[in-house]
Order: sequence, then structure tokens, then C-alpha cells
Amino acid sequence: MTLLYFDPFFQRHMTGSHPERPARLKAIEERLNQRGLFDRCIRPQWGPAELTQVERLHDHFYIDELRKYAAAGGGQIEADTVVSPQSYDVAMVAAGAVCDAVDRVLRGEDSTALCLVRPPGHHALHDAPMGFCLLNNIALGAKQALQTAQLDRVLIVDWDVHHGNGTQAMFWRDEQVGFFSAHRFPFYPGTGEVTETGEGPGLGYTCNLPFDYATTTPASFQTRFAAELERFAEHVKPQLVLISAGFDAHREDPIGSLKLDTEDFAELTRVVRQVANQHAGGRIVSVLEGGYHVERLADSVAVHLEGLLGNEQSVCPLQESQPDGRLKLG
Ligand SMILES: [Zn+2]
Repeated sequence: MTLLYFDPFFQRHMTGSHPERPARLKAIEERLNQRGLFDRCIRPQWGPAELTQVERLHDHFYIDELRKYAAAGGGQIEADTVVSPQSYDVAMVAAGAVCDAVDRVLRGEDSTALCLVRPPGHHALHDAPMGFCLLNNIALGAKQALQTAQLDRVLIVDWDVHHGNGTQAMFWRDEQVGFFSAHRFPFYPGTGEVTETGEGPGLGYTCNLPFDYATTTPASFQTRFAAELERFAEHVKPQLVLISAGFDAHREDPIGSLKLDTEDFAELTRVVRQVANQHAGGRIVSVLEGGYHVERLADSVAVHLEGLLGNEQSVCPLQESQPDGRLKLG
């Protein structure tokens, strides 16, 4: 099975005609129903993230500003980002989903989880919203793994068509979180060159794969993605793999596109699974980021989820609970 985090509450982040809109999740819900995928998943109950969890990576004053801005009715909080009255609450539930998924996967309830949340998170910075993102869901999930379960090494794989600049910045000097991003370049947000590899103790724990639109083909993307990810994972040796799963590299995406087809997301899922099986006992927590052609997004999420479900044959190694409640992980 796979732990599937999905809730109509995420529709309450109202963004009007913005491309990151509630209809995205509606289309995904329809497709997962059509394919009977909800029935093949476990649907956990969870709550919003605690303030202390979010403050591990976000500035206290920023979080408070965001809460007040939403409570006052919201508006355009940043050039590309819209906030509605319930957006703060929705963002906290999104972050809570990823933290809960990390906890459950590390407890061995299942080896994989998919968090179909809004708003997305990988551009969100320590003290500011950015690029449709309010709180950095995936980064908070990585921090949850390190601090609550006391893991030593986590790998974040970001295949959203945009560079995950917020995530990169949060772990720039951190050797416990390997950040791997494949993205269109030059493109928004402008970062993500090969030369950006981290700093200090984090040097070598950031890996960027920029792809030029004109010269990229699905085949060239896949070949480079697989080779570089395998190499980087060998270096990081993760105990848990997180995916910033954006689907805006789809060739029909209205604001992204790196010419990928729906089936390419099945292949990306397979490659990440292989890496997770090799290093992390098959443990994967995947988190929705972008994807703005609602029908192709729904198709792509469905093949991604089928890929995660296909992992159920793999062995999730036994985990022994220690007397102090800590997990012993291979
Ligand atoms: Zn994106």
C-alpha cells in the first residue's frame, strides 16, 4: 500500500484565476477515483503542523505575518503568490501532512507516502513566501526526520521544472540533507546552476542538473537524471528519500514544460524507487509541488502513485523500537 494524504480542506487556499488553483486537486481526485487508486491506499488522519515544527526552518516573525495577512483577508503577498483568508491554516495542514507522513514511514507503517497538498512549498524561503509557496513542506519533512526520528541522512529529489531554490537555501550548509534538483534552466527562479553545490559542511551535498529547453529530449533528460541521481545517492547514502514531485515539466504544461510525457513520470518514479530501495529500505515520502495543466497533472500524479504502489513488493527492513522511543534504522 501507500499512505495517501488528500483532503478537500486543501481547496480552501483560494487563488482565483491563478494557475496554482483548487481545480488542480479536484482533477487529481477525479482521476484517482477513475483508476480505483484511492482504494489501494491507506488514508491517514493527521493535523496541522505545530508551530515548533515550522519554526525549525521558518522565521517566527514571517510565520506570524503570514497568519495575520490571511486573517486580514489576504491578497497578493508577493509578485506571484496569492493568500486567501484560510491559506495560513491550509499551509499548516500541508506541512503537517508531510511531517506526519515522515513519522509514519519511519515507524514502518508503510514504506511509501504521497502527500497531495496545496500550496506547494519548494520556493518558500526562511523568512518569505515565493513562487506560489508559503511554507516549505518538503524541507519541514526533512527536518522532521532529522530531529524527531533522529536520522542522520536524508535525500530530497526535486523534479519540478523549476529549481527548488527555497529548499536548496535551507540546507545549503547542511551535510545531513542532500538536495538533488533537475530543472529547466535558464528559467524561474534563476538559480540552480551546476556550480551551486553547497558550502561549508554542506559542500557537495547540493547537486543541480540544469536542462536547456532547446536541446533537451525526454531521453536525454532520463539518462542524465538516472546517472546523476545514482551517483549523488551513493555519496549521500540516505536513510529516507523525499520527492518534490512537480509535474510542470510535462510538455503540455502552460507555464513550465521540459517536453516530458506523462509516462516519463513513471520512469522518474522507478529510478527514485531504485535508489530508495538500494539505500533507504524503500522509504519514500513524495510531496506535490507544481503542475498546471490540470488534466495532464492528474494523469501524471496517477502514474506516479501507481509507481509508488508498485514498490510494495520491496522489503522494508524491520525497524526495532529502542527503549527510549528512537528508531534504529539501517
Ligand atoms: Zn514548478
